[in-house]
Amino acid sequence: MKVPHSNAAGHRYVWTRDHLGSTPGVPDQFEVHAILFDPEATRHVPHTRRKWTELIERHEVAFLDYDNEVSACGKRCRMIFPLSFDTAEPDACPKCLEMVELWLNDRPEYERLRSEREAWITRKQDDELALGEEMDRALQRQAADIAGRKREQERKDTG
Ligand SMILES: [Zn+2]
Repeated sequence: MKVPHSNAAGHRYVWTRDHLGSTPGVPDQFEVHAILFDPEATRHVPHTRRKWTELIERHEVAFLDYDNEVSACGKRCRMIFPLSFDTAEPDACPKCLEMVELWLNDRPEYERLRSEREAWITRKQDDELALGEEMDRALQRQAADIAGRKREQERKDTG
């Protein structure tokens, strides 16, 4: 079944080289993710989405360079197709299929899972930040320690 208000997408594209140089292309095989969007909620269309929807409307595959669009399963996708996500797609991402099922039949549960995932992503970023700061402190301690030992050695050498 072709899911309404959806687009098929891929995580990454490939670069192909020819006499014209490098051009982005579709990989031979890849997992197909679902980009879902609520047409009711498109009044404040983000810049990224505006960019790729223009390409999609011209029936072109959108290869996003610096931007990405998050799929139903939470994957950052850089390749978006001018096609709906099809649940019969053999290479469909199983997580996206689950989310699509909820999107169609249990929207509150879909929203709940989505916000849970977003909260988890934010928490993870916070953790990484905290870990980064902890590592900085550890490195500073180590540097101070080395400097201290060096000073002590110098004192011994001169004394
Ligand atoms: Zn997916």
